[in-house]
Amino acid sequence: MVHFAITLGTLAIIKAYTPLEIGSLTATGALVGSYLPDIDIRHSTAGKVIPAWLFTKHRGPTHSLLALIVVTTAAAAFNIYLGIGLGFGYLLHLGADLLTSMHLPYWNWYPGKESHK
Ligand SMILES: [Zn+2]
Repeated sequence: MVHFAITLGTLAIIKAYTPLEIGSLTATGALVGSYLPDIDIRHSTAGKVIPAWLFTKHRGPTHSLLALIVVTTAAAAFNIYLGIGLGFGYLLHLGADLLTSMHLPYWNWYPGKESHK
């Protein structure tokens, strides 16, 4: 819910203070993207739809730069505005998680290697 609020607030600020137009597809993509990295949590909204928690631990590969690129590219191949929005929401999610004490253990160009210790 926090990620949803951060993304929604950021979209509102962009709409209010910049000349950028944010279409409904881009906004929808951003809001979905704000949930998507947490498919690795059983009780998360996204985890109830896509149970990636069966295969990986929390803040694992779904919280990597590679996942951001793959998900954004896949969505952009479908529709560029959806891809831009989804990538934006996904990036905001990862950015917010970086600010927490748990950080992002797999924040790297590829999942599987810890970036700090
Ligand atoms: Zn997360």
